[in-house]
Amino acid sequence: MKKHLFSLVALLVSVAGSVSAQSSGYPELDAMVQTWKDAQQTTLGYPASQESNLALFYQWYLASGMDVVNLNNAGDPMTDAPSTLSTQKFERQVIEFFAPLYGFKLDDVWGLVTHSGTDGNNHGIYFGVNYLRNKTGMEPVLYVSNEAHYSNMRLAHLQNVEMYLVASDSMGRMIPDSLEEVLVTSRPALMVYAMGSTFKGAIDDQKALNAVLASHPEIPAVYRHVDAALFGGYLPFSPYRELVDRDTMHYESISVSGHKFFGLDSPSGLFICTKEIYDNQVDYNVPYLNSNMRMINCSRDALDPLKFWWLTKSIGHTGWTFQAAKLLAQRDYLKQQLDSIGWPNWVNDYSNTVFFRRPSQRVISKYTLAQGYDDRFGGELAHVVVMQHVTKEKIDMFIADLIEETYNANGVQVQ
Ligand SMILES: *Cc1c(COP(=O)(O)O)cnc(C)c1O
Repeated sequence: MKKHLFSLVALLVSVAGSVSAQSSGYPELDAMVQTWKDAQQTTLGYPASQESNLALFYQWYLASGMDVVNLNNAGDPMTDAPSTLSTQKFERQVIEFFAPLYGFKLDDVWGLVTHSGTDGNNHGIYFGVNYLRNKTGMEPVLYVSNEAHYSNMRLAHLQNVEMYLVASDSMGRMIPDSLEEVLVTSRPALMVYAMGSTFKGAIDDQKALNAVLASHPEIPAVYRHVDAALFGGYLPFSPYRELVDRDTMHYESISVSGHKFFGLDSPSGLFICTKEIYDNQVDYNVPYLNSNMRMINCSRDALDPLKFWWLTKSIGHTGWTFQAAKLLAQRDYLKQQLDSIGWPNWVNDYSNTVFFRRPSQRVISKYTLAQGYDDRFGGELAHVVVMQHVTKEKIDMFIADLIEETYNANGVQVQ
């Protein structure tokens, strides 16, 4: 009874809090709230969606008294006997919602809600190494483009896998001929495909790279992991869904972030692979968890899978399809506006990342833009990742700032 009363009070407080600024009782924290809200209005450079749509989830969470229940998803979410003090049952439904969108069959899939895109890549590389060792008895070589996300290089190092950084073209895509050059055809190949590359938003051409691999039947075995942290979010809901469809691209596993396109408000993600990969791992029977543990982490977050599940219900296929179209239209708008003021800019096909000549540090910090450098594009660069919250109004404000630093008060170009 007492607990419910508390929950009711908490609910009322939270409802009131959404109307007027609510004090936490800690001045240092209260002071940050406005800073965070202000920064949210102008952040354009990073791929976390700032439209999370979880208010009703939090209201339910407090009102139901779940705030005092300590859940933990330790264990295999795809088991038929999920543990009681967990949200594994819902986690499995999340995997089964997304698996077909990436071309996996429901009777041939394994997966989990991860703690991040990096956590998903960790599983992809770990599963890949073990699968290839099991199949061949040999040590694999990992290939990844030199413009891929650094987590892949970090994880290859962590897992002590021999790695080749394959050259990429000026737009950031792994060059098939460069793969051909470095390929060690006597050993199993662990491919990590970038979707996309960190700064330019390039998508590795899986068909062309697979063709290079297929032209070497002497390679003992191949495993392809797709690092689709960002693009794996909107592509399945866009006309370009084929790019992440394993029926077309024939990969073994995929990792996607939850806090990027899907709009979870904390780091999370998806890792999905086929049953064959799951079945060819190292077994560690853990009696107290009652299954063959495949996951790297023991304790795993229970709330993220539940938030994910909530979003599959409340936003779902229709909502994400709408958001994907909106996001690509906003990307087109940003590109047009940059073109219209003559600001040099580039964007990869299917990408929501527009990179351009780097503006002043004032503009960089106002919009928290990520910075890059490439002589082939005139040197100093910056990018905007066009997520749901990068609306036409925000783009107009950003363009106005660029105009202001390009022309003086007399309308004369100064840059
Ligand atoms: C963001 C990103 C990552 C890292 O994902 P986290 O969820 O931040 O760990 C890895 N690869 C790519 C392609 C990304 O865009």
